[in-house]
Amino acid sequence: MKKEFEAFLTSEVGRLDQEGLRRGLRNLKGFQGKKINLDGREVYNFCSNNYLGLADDARLSQAALDCIKEEGFGSGASRLVCGNMPAHQALERAMAAFKGTDKCLLFSSGYMANIGIISALFDENDIIFSDKLNHASIVDGILLSGAQFKRYRHNNMEMLEDLLKRNTEAKKKCIITDSIFSMDGDMAPLDQIVSLAKVYGCSVMVDEAHAFGILGETGKGVVEHFGVEDEVDIQMGTLSKAAGSYGAYCCGSTQLIDFLINKARSFIYTTGLPPSVAAASLKAIEIIKDGKLLRKNLWENARYMRAQLKLMGFDTILSQTPVIPILVKESKLAVEFSDQLFHQGVFVSAIRPPTVPVHTARLRLTVMATHTKMELDYALRQIKEIGQKLCII
Ligand SMILES: *Cc1c(COP(=O)(O)O)cnc(C)c1O
Repeated sequence: MKKEFEAFLTSEVGRLDQEGLRRGLRNLKGFQGKKINLDGREVYNFCSNNYLGLADDARLSQAALDCIKEEGFGSGASRLVCGNMPAHQALERAMAAFKGTDKCLLFSSGYMANIGIISALFDENDIIFSDKLNHASIVDGILLSGAQFKRYRHNNMEMLEDLLKRNTEAKKKCIITDSIFSMDGDMAPLDQIVSLAKVYGCSVMVDEAHAFGILGETGKGVVEHFGVEDEVDIQMGTLSKAAGSYGAYCCGSTQLIDFLINKARSFIYTTGLPPSVAAASLKAIEIIKDGKLLRKNLWENARYMRAQLKLMGFDTILSQTPVIPILVKESKLAVEFSDQLFHQGVFVSAIRPPTVPVHTARLRLTVMATHTKMELDYALRQIKEIGQKLCII
């Protein structure tokens, strides 16, 4: 059996290799910043989700260190048993106040939040309407829930409305969408989605993973951008991207949070986050609240980068945010593009199926608030040169 098992493992990975789909880990040395040491090479980082540069911000580290002195390192148990530490409570209070909701519940990660929230709230009697490009954790949450799963073409409101018209027989109905799509960098039309939800008696859940901290006047996300904070029933987002920390939030009504505390299995059956991580997140929220200048730099960098790439002839799909895909289509070519850039000191990772649909392999470039014009221009020159060499433009 053991031999067969190993043969299975090597043949599966071999197949991925042949298709240009094999993935491997690269090794970082030192800090997560705009310049990183990766596999022994100094490169400019153009693919993290560390949009505001907070991941290596000394204020977050200091907040974590101060908390370790007060509360120690581990939380020792699940929050419901005896692991509900002061830092968790402080973060949840601050987050609810910031988002303007009754309450907030912390999860250990965005992935765990989505699978826990969705599978707790919905079952076979319910229908979930979900954008085709929603994050894998939303898809997994829906599958785990057993709810009827209706997918609509990406951001296609006619198709969503058509599905809403044709699927009325359910106990509960909910529309779930990413607010900024992680691999395409475009935004969900949340204003239209909440209107449709009203007409058809649906609730709405948004995943603000890539929007929290960077969109809206104070960084609350796409809900703030569209002014629909009060019309979204379940606001979920992660603290691992722009906030530079780890963990995830679910913000909503008191009833929602009480329900999730009792029913969300990925909240109940897991140990609370180390309190120092929550303390760092709390500091990140303070920085985000006053982060107008950071957001201004970030969006200026994004606009500049996207405009230049388009001028060169690259297809950036429908990007409107700091997430800027460069469409390559074929996986092997995308990997080649990324490798050659890496050797010129620019790191942009290749994204391949199954993360994105087949024949849409791409480089997923992200800018940070802290990138300078000189750094952007250096990256642009390399991208242009290699893009031409590989006949992508
Ligand atoms: C990254 C991401 C998640 C997962 O968040 P983690 O905190 O990294 O687990 C969930 N949803 C979306 C849209 C994401 O991009």
